[in-house]
Amino acid sequence: MTARVLVVDDILPNVKVLEAKLAAEYYDVTTALSGKEALEEMAKAPPDIVLLDVMMPGMDGFEVCRIIRATPEIAHVPVVMVTALSDPEDRVRGLEAGADDFLTKPVNDIALIARLRSLVRLKLMMDEFRLREETSSQFGVMDGQGIDADDITGARVLIVEDEPADAEVMHKALDSLVTVIEEPDGEKALATARDGNFDLIIVSLSLRESDGMRLCSHLRAMAQPRQTSILVLIWEDATKELVRALDIGVNDYVTKPIDRNELVARTRTQIRRKRYQDGLRSSYEKSMEMATTDGLTGLHNRSYATSHIENLVTRANTDGKPISVMMLDIDFFKKVNDTYGHAAGDEVLREFAERLKAQLRGIDLAVRYGGEEFVVVMPDTDGATGNLVAERLRLGMADKPFKLESTKDPLAVTVSIGVASSHSSHESAASMLERADKAMYAAKNSGRNKVVADDVIGGKADKTAAS
Ligand code: GH3
Ligand code: MG
Ligand code: MG
Repeated sequence: MTARVLVVDDILPNVKVLEAKLAAEYYDVTTALSGKEALEEMAKAPPDIVLLDVMMPGMDGFEVCRIIRATPEIAHVPVVMVTALSDPEDRVRGLEAGADDFLTKPVNDIALIARLRSLVRLKLMMDEFRLREETSSQFGVMDGQGIDADDITGARVLIVEDEPADAEVMHKALDSLVTVIEEPDGEKALATARDGNFDLIIVSLSLRESDGMRLCSHLRAMAQPRQTSILVLIWEDATKELVRALDIGVNDYVTKPIDRNELVARTRTQIRRKRYQDGLRSSYEKSMEMATTDGLTGLHNRSYATSHIENLVTRANTDGKPISVMMLDIDFFKKVNDTYGHAAGDEVLREFAERLKAQLRGIDLAVRYGGEEFVVVMPDTDGATGNLVAERLRLGMADKPFKLESTKDPLAVTVSIGVASSHSSHESAASMLERADKAMYAAKNSGRNKVVADDVIGGKADKTAAS
């Protein structure tokens, strides 16, 4: 997709030059001639990235950047500051205002494009995460709170630099902020990185004993659920190397000789970014888990199970394999609540689920289907086996009284189970569940604490013959 770039500069020819360069790279460019205009433009249609001039009359670039960062709708748009000055103080001011990077005028084409590409790539990924996050909050399962990306305490940084003086500068600069670990040997660094759970790895691209670029590429290829940020150290004029590094997927760079403040600011930004990303990801994972499991028992919940059972049944039918489902309902459960209280009831449900899980195979699906109603789906299981398993489950509850925290009395808990097995290659999951449900009611009616197979109630063995 084409990324939208907003170019902001008070001098029209500057705008035109950047616009031409970017259009040649197929970016979709919009422009603004002042900070105010830029913010208006962003409110209308947030771009994927902003190139922001620092020196502008009225509202300068620092202020615009601060406002962007403080406006929730556009706070995540990457900002690259374009400055005539290469004063380190200025860079630090910009980073503190929330800028992601700097370009110095006159803008070097390669640095411009490389930088944009990497920032846009990152932004699109973050957009994707935020979208998922939004989707899950619409389901009402998670609101994304608890992501505190600004908190970088406990962060771990690995420094890979075999030039002792540079390593020392970095170590000293970062020591009070994060846990710093040094591994000057590029070969060993890969293993250290793998085991070290780092938030950020700083790799020198001028290692004498090994190839820093290769290390970066290996780090990026490493299978990691949580992707560590990589920051490279590079000589000021090494543009080609920089482009390669950014192409490999390195997140950021600092030029040598190292400016202490800039290193600190960029380290902080990268760690924040990683934490933010991790936070979104785990909140997404949690949302998924909450959307699919029952909070009390940890079993799958009904809304998740409904579509999954359908899939299992369809697959069994397609493969011509047997499948059995059972419906389980705890006997006289209301009495547990009435006698010992709701908390005791909850405990029974939890223990019931534990015993269920302990008796089932990994491929079986156990679902909390209603209050004290459960469904178990057993792929690759014919009726005879299904009945045996059901009987084992029944005994597993009835034979050993439940010991609860809420009450001293060990509680006798029994269950009634109905079993249905696949009869024909056309039967739907809903129809199997219905048969299992009927069988379960037959078990209730014949005295409870029983297993009833659907094909034996009312002598329905003829159903089998229909297949
Ligand atoms: P039967 O043998 O016919 O199944 O009788 P029963 O009492 O088990 O069935 P009934 O459907 O009358 O009562 C089910 C009770 O389960 C009613 C409801 O308050 C209780 N229940 C449902 N969900 C929960 C829960 O999450 N926790 C607790 N403690 N009780 C629950
Ligand atoms: Mg019941
Ligand atoms: Mg019930």
